[in-house]
Amino acid sequence: MTTEPVIHSLSIPPFDVNTYLVVCPETKEAAVIDPAGQPERILALAEEVGARVVMILDTHGHADHVQANAALRQICGAPVYMHADDDRFFSDPQTRAIVERELGLPGAPPADRLLADGDILKLGSLAIEVLHTPGHTPGSVCFRVGGNLFTGDTLFVGDVGRCDLTGGSLDRLLESLAAKIIDLPPETVVWPGHDYGETPTSTIGRERVENPYITDFLLDP
Ligand SMILES: [Zn+2]
Ligand SMILES: [Zn+2]
Repeated sequence: MTTEPVIHSLSIPPFDVNTYLVVCPETKEAAVIDPAGQPERILALAEEVGARVVMILDTHGHADHVQANAALRQICGAPVYMHADDDRFFSDPQTRAIVERELGLPGAPPADRLLADGDILKLGSLAIEVLHTPGHTPGSVCFRVGGNLFTGDTLFVGDVGRCDLTGGSLDRLLESLAAKIIDLPPETVVWPGHDYGETPTSTIGRERVENPYITDFLLDP
């Protein structure tokens, strides 16, 4: 049987990004998904639940999702993981300038480790599977941990992420949903990057019935 993580979340300003602390119940090692800012709050939460942050995972390279990357890396000594296609937002000075202007926030240092589709990261006795789901950005990924899917800005409850920023494409996003997401087990819990829906979380089964991007574009084209 797959080990299931213990999941905690924080809503971080200025864009109310959901930052998730994903903890292995056996070793108490933790991953922070999308450390959006306020590193002291993230670390206080980890301390409160007795977890030790050993990795920092970015669902994508938008600046609002990565503001605490540098501080957490420095304090915890944990490496930052991001898909190569979004790391250029930070490693390529020209792209960096464009993206910083679009979002009105400074970027982050380049990642320590680059992710690719299908990668499996070990977190204690948990396995974190990387699903490359380009569309919202070229390097957007979802992280699958047991029966949970952390979707960043690819899939929201009843919605999908905007595709009008640098590198975005609604066609690619829909292809990603069709190829990687909608056929996951229906009970898979969806943990989105923002709380834009009727409820903070959903399931793949519910999104297949209620999300208009899935029902109208993918299941009934
Ligand atoms: Zn985004
Ligand atoms: Zn976002």
